[in-house]
Amino acid sequence: MPQGISAFAEIALPVAVHGTFTYAIPETLRDAVRLGSRVEVPLGTKLSTGFVIALIDEAPVDTAKVKPIRNLLDEDEPALTREVIDLCRWAAEYYIAPLGEMLRVALPANMAARGKREALLVGDDTLIDAARRDERILESDLDLVRELRNRPLPLSMLPRSAVERLRGAGVIATRDRLFDAKGVRYDRFVMLEDGPSSAASRHPPPASGEKGNGLVVAPRPASGETDNRLDVAPRPAKRGEGGRRPGEGLTAKQQAAVDFLAERGGELSVAALEHAGVSAAILSALAKKKIVRIERRARRHTLDAFLAGLDTVATEEFRYSREQRDAIDAVKSALGTFAPFVLEGVTGSGKTEVYIEVMREVVRRGEQALLLVPEIALTPVFAARLKERFGERIAIVHSSLSASERYDQWWRARRGEVDVAIGPRSALFTPFPSLGIIVVDEEGDSAYKQEETPRYNARDLAVVRAQHRNIPVVLGSATPSLESRENAARGRYTLLRMKKRVEARPLPEVEVLDLRREHAEKEDKGFVIFSTPLRDELRKTFAASEQAIILINRRGYAPYLLCRECGHEFRCRDCSVTLTVHRRSGLLICHYCGLRKPIPSKCPLCGGEVLQPIGFGTEKVEERFHRDFPGIVADVLDRDSTRKKGSLVKILDRFRRGETQALIGTQMLSKGHHFPNVTLTAVLNADSILGYPDFRSAEKTFYLLTQVAGRAGRGELRGRVLIQSAFPTHYAIQHAMQHDYEAFYEAEIQFRRTFHYPPITSMIAILFRGANLPDVERAAIACGKMLEEALQPLAGSRIQGPAPAPLARIKGVWRYQILLRSPQRVALRRAVESVMLPRRWKGVDVAIDVDPINIL
Ligand code: ADP
Ligand code: ZN
Repeated sequence: MPQGISAFAEIALPVAVHGTFTYAIPETLRDAVRLGSRVEVPLGTKLSTGFVIALIDEAPVDTAKVKPIRNLLDEDEPALTREVIDLCRWAAEYYIAPLGEMLRVALPANMAARGKREALLVGDDTLIDAARRDERILESDLDLVRELRNRPLPLSMLPRSAVERLRGAGVIATRDRLFDAKGVRYDRFVMLEDGPSSAASRHPPPASGEKGNGLVVAPRPASGETDNRLDVAPRPAKRGEGGRRPGEGLTAKQQAAVDFLAERGGELSVAALEHAGVSAAILSALAKKKIVRIERRARRHTLDAFLAGLDTVATEEFRYSREQRDAIDAVKSALGTFAPFVLEGVTGSGKTEVYIEVMREVVRRGEQALLLVPEIALTPVFAARLKERFGERIAIVHSSLSASERYDQWWRARRGEVDVAIGPRSALFTPFPSLGIIVVDEEGDSAYKQEETPRYNARDLAVVRAQHRNIPVVLGSATPSLESRENAARGRYTLLRMKKRVEARPLPEVEVLDLRREHAEKEDKGFVIFSTPLRDELRKTFAASEQAIILINRRGYAPYLLCRECGHEFRCRDCSVTLTVHRRSGLLICHYCGLRKPIPSKCPLCGGEVLQPIGFGTEKVEERFHRDFPGIVADVLDRDSTRKKGSLVKILDRFRRGETQALIGTQMLSKGHHFPNVTLTAVLNADSILGYPDFRSAEKTFYLLTQVAGRAGRGELRGRVLIQSAFPTHYAIQHAMQHDYEAFYEAEIQFRRTFHYPPITSMIAILFRGANLPDVERAAIACGKMLEEALQPLAGSRIQGPAPAPLARIKGVWRYQILLRSPQRVALRRAVESVMLPRRWKGVDVAIDVDPINIL
């Protein structure tokens, strides 16, 4: 079907509504609106961005009700490619999420704006004076009037009562406006009219077009030799190729500017021209005469500043290990076909080199490669290695990028100007023209799962995208998710294993210290911070001038405060958790909602004066460390100590230079860093996760311990890892100690099979949230009944709840949960759709989470 003749479009909107909408394409836009275009459409009384997901020729039944598209936002290339639309369609169905919301996450945040209402000044001074005299508006309202004289302002920013009065008096009006591509910075370019570079297709379209000054043909002298100075002496006008007359009535300066421009290809940035001495006044005069046209374009950003700050990696040419070679060969021979691989390689086995080599091969074939990483903080490390191999043709999607930089990176990928993109889960949707491979690093990491609508998992969608495109996908990890590993066991994915570290480097020795044999100090109330053997080992380490890392996955001083008299514990007002004691700041803080209050001196219930902090976090470990290891310098690395900009880098540098001998930190420390002089890594409480009411707690524990162990002993010195545990025989801890993922997998899959947990069954969680407990409870119970009925015919289905979620209340919101499991994935989804989609519950937000990761 030829483009551009359809009169209607099927449009998805970035709102929480399942289903799509039909809009009419006005005559004037019929040539321009295409599949994937973003358009501005009315939605109720507001404006919204819409995504064209199909063009329709036939008029819908109820044509009268169909509203027209107001505006086209992508004036040149449509923002969404067919490939991305297809992927989002698949994801929307699988995750029971609105298609428009899926498409929204596939784009940079500023490309799916909702309309905002703004106020603008409409009355003149006479009207304002009159209104003031009649006291229909107040003296104080005139402040607002003054501000609005400059520009319209978003209504949400303005005082409501003043707005009411001014609107009543006819001084201001309100209107809707869509702020597309907000935050994008522009550069202005000057072009000779009919110049060769006016073809805009090589550039991102201006977001809301500041257009040229018409299409009048202007003289375009043939380019002669170029010089870098602007010659202001009048020159004889040259003839344009088209034989048109030279610009008449140009001043000498104007003519010189035209010549200068012509000699440089007919197009320069305003900044470059100003630099050469062409004033803004000259340019605007030329524009008025329609000799040049001034156009704005989204700014090009370089990654130089970001990349310059990266550690450079020594360019060694490796000889790949046998295992690396085999993995590389397997993936390379699958290029051009759909082939999912699980790359299970112990830490230090050289997985990253495998990724890089297969991506290089893809780039050699003229295609693009996508590398997903779980955490943004990891990207600089990867980026440095990638930069070394791929030069400047990489895009890095990074949280510290500005909106403008992200927009630019995205368009660079869209136009095929980069070969490799690297980023967190949303980078999966990078719109490459010819994607050749996807690599997902640390594929078991929960960061790939989005915990808000749309709740997709980028790891699994990577496989879907690869299937749609017929390309390989590599899921790499030292500890693959049970899901991916099980897919390999069933033959759906190919398992590639790398069992050895490169260059026969040994894996660190891991030892478990049994906390049950230890006696806690009296003031620690049963909690052991440093066991005797750990204390001995730390002393030896420091005596040998080596360094240690001490992990404790809780910040603050202690997780709660208890009154010794009456047993009262201080809880958050709005969340069902205890308040954490932060001694340094003298506060009790809720780690869920941020509530803070001073540490009280007395119990509010009984007046008791002995308030006991129970348990321990980084602050208390630090305190104890200084007592037990006097003279040894240690830093704390957690979210509190790194809040100030630059402090993270400072702490890490100090440690790297050996100015600190120990680093006490949270999970932040467990990944990515490399400290050659660290010979001892201690995990103070390996059991903390095991206690969670979560069927994945063993997997999460194994994952954390393996990560930690993987950090140790990367340098010349042999590393040791000591794990303190009160369940030293737990299989997660035992297998982590042996670096034996396969044994862990066998034990864990057995557990999942016995108790019917994923990946043996598929799971959908339904979360009910609301401010009013009875409302939430009522909705959950009603849905529970209907779901039970709907699941009746499905053999082997299970329903847990409705029941309060383990975290029953967060930020004043009550939370109920239903967990559904079934061996029949599709039937389960259909049942959930049939019950949940047609219904709404007043005051209750219902979230459907397919393949949930977080069920607390
Ligand atoms: P993984 O991702 O499996 O933990 P990396 O790819 O980060 O492992 O490799 C660990 C270290 O070994 C890196 O410093 C890397 O540069 C180096 N390395 C990788 N492959 C080789 C090789 N074949 N020979 C020598 N060093 C290698
Ligand atoms: Zn709270």
